[in-house]
This record gives sequence, structure tokens and C-alpha cells, in this order.
Amino acid sequence: MPKNSSMQREYETLKTMIHLYCREVHQNNESGLCLSCKELLAYANSRLEKCPYSEDKPTCDQCPVHCYKPARRKQIQEVMRYAGPRMIRSHPVMAVRHLMKKLKKPKV
Ligand SMILES: [Zn+2]
Repeated sequence: MPKNSSMQREYETLKTMIHLYCREVHQNNESGLCLSCKELLAYANSRLEKCPYSEDKPTCDQCPVHCYKPARRKQIQEVMRYAGPRMIRSHPVMAVRHLMKKLKKPKV
């Protein structure tokens, strides 16, 4: 599990996005995620655990470290592109918090 509240939030946001994406794009009506989405979330979680930033962590799409493998990065960008705008409707608080964080410059 992510090691602090900032990462915990990032993980929760990502999880919500992947669930939304899986349900609508993969037409998955099960309560859980499909196998490929499950793998993506597990991958994202393992990246967050290894992230060198702590409380000042930028959101992953702003992060200068680019720790995702190219294929996974493409996958997660697709999820964010799809789920990002929809989050504003279904989870306004989470989405706004995510957007506000984007404005913060990472301290390196
Ligand atoms: Zn899926």
C-alpha cells in the first residue's frame, strides 16, 4: 500500500478512474476489474510504492521521473484521458483535488 496520505489519494483516484474505464470501455459488468485493468492497477501501485517523492509528490502525469514503462504509460494515459473529464461529473471533489495538485510544481 502507498506510504502516505498524498500517495494514498493518488492511488484512490487512479483506482476510481480504472474502474470507470473498465466498466465503460471494456464493458465489464463484474464488480471487480478485468484482468488487464487489474494488472494495470497493481503496476501503478508498485510504482507508487517505489516513488522517490513523498508529500510533495506531483501527480503522475506531471512527474519528472517517468517511472512507468512505455507500454504501461500509454495504457494509463488512455485511462486518464477517458476517465479524467468524466470524474468531474461523478467524483467532483476528487477530480478538483487532482487538478489543483497539478498546478503545484514538484520540488526536486
Ligand atoms: Zn478492464
